[in-house]
Amino acid sequence: MSKAIKKIGVLTSGGDSPGMNAAIRAVVRTCAYYNIECVGIYRGYQGMIEGDFKEMGPRSVNNIVNKGGTVLKTARSKDFMTAEGRKKAHGHLVEAGIDSLVIIGGDGSFTGAEVFNKEFGFPVIGIPGTIDNDIFGTTHTLGYDTALNTVVEAVDKIRDTASSHNRLFFVEVMGRDAGHIALNAGIGAGAEEILIPEENLGLDRLLESLQRSKASGKASSIVVIAEGDKIGKTVFELKDYVEANLPEYDVRVSVLGHMQRGGTPSCFDRVLASRLGVKAVESLLQGKSNYMVGLMHDKITLTPLEQAIKGSSKIDEELLRVSDIMST
Ligand code: ATP
Repeated sequence: MSKAIKKIGVLTSGGDSPGMNAAIRAVVRTCAYYNIECVGIYRGYQGMIEGDFKEMGPRSVNNIVNKGGTVLKTARSKDFMTAEGRKKAHGHLVEAGIDSLVIIGGDGSFTGAEVFNKEFGFPVIGIPGTIDNDIFGTTHTLGYDTALNTVVEAVDKIRDTASSHNRLFFVEVMGRDAGHIALNAGIGAGAEEILIPEENLGLDRLLESLQRSKASGKASSIVVIAEGDKIGKTVFELKDYVEANLPEYDVRVSVLGHMQRGGTPSCFDRVLASRLGVKAVESLLQGKSNYMVGLMHDKITLTPLEQAIKGSSKIDEELLRVSDIMST
């Protein structure tokens, strides 16, 4: 029998994403609902190693549901990669009476959680928080929907200037290993071409497609490119290549960068964060550990952390087809 849970620690780790605050709020309020204590751990695993903790009651999370970033701050901790660092962290948790953890982060954070659980038998539940949507076991990670809306809004604005000047714009979006943002926001924003890490469009096809666009009467074009696209050139090298081969094009580059991580979370992300936070706490109370809570077919589900880390979140073939047809 697992020991009754009395005090849950919550932390955010890795890259921040909109909706993390809503998830913290949900964890804190669910703990209060079930009359158990909740402790906020600052700066992810680094704060755990340093004992940077703060008791959190239901009123301590007022007015954060609508805020981007994370009030608990986040960090990437090299010390937590060492057995010595994790031992220190465990010591601080025991000292503070914390008996279980909710970890809000990406697959790296989940790997850390799994290692920690194996070493100390410490109950852990993960909430997927990353804008990249690259985690197996959930159709949406926290922050992904907000990031899509941010990208679409930015591309809409770029389109205004692109069409006024008859220009070709390359817009680079986040996604080193996953093209979910590029593909979905690209379709939503009406991009002529979308380059993603999962698919090799090839330089020749890109040139052909741009030539076709020009011939069909399109005076301006937007190409959305994931930062890790398979062509292997930086977006600036791609610009040089296209201008050298299609001199009629005047290419401009816009790298959206970190603005994609920020901003007010969308309603979808807030609701998702609330559902995931409730499920994370209830799962711990039911004696479950080493799972990630996620969204599948509009139901909140549990996936073993190991699968969430190792499995890949595949790109939707139907979306690729839709994107092809839309660029006609
Ligand atoms: P994002 O998707 O935004 O990058 P992430 O959670 O994948 O988020 P990482 O930097 O990969 O971000 O991981 C966050 C932290 O998790 C690391 O800084 C480290 O402290 C911990 N971590 C990652 N891998 C391990 C591991 N193998 N062992 C112990 N801790 C780990």
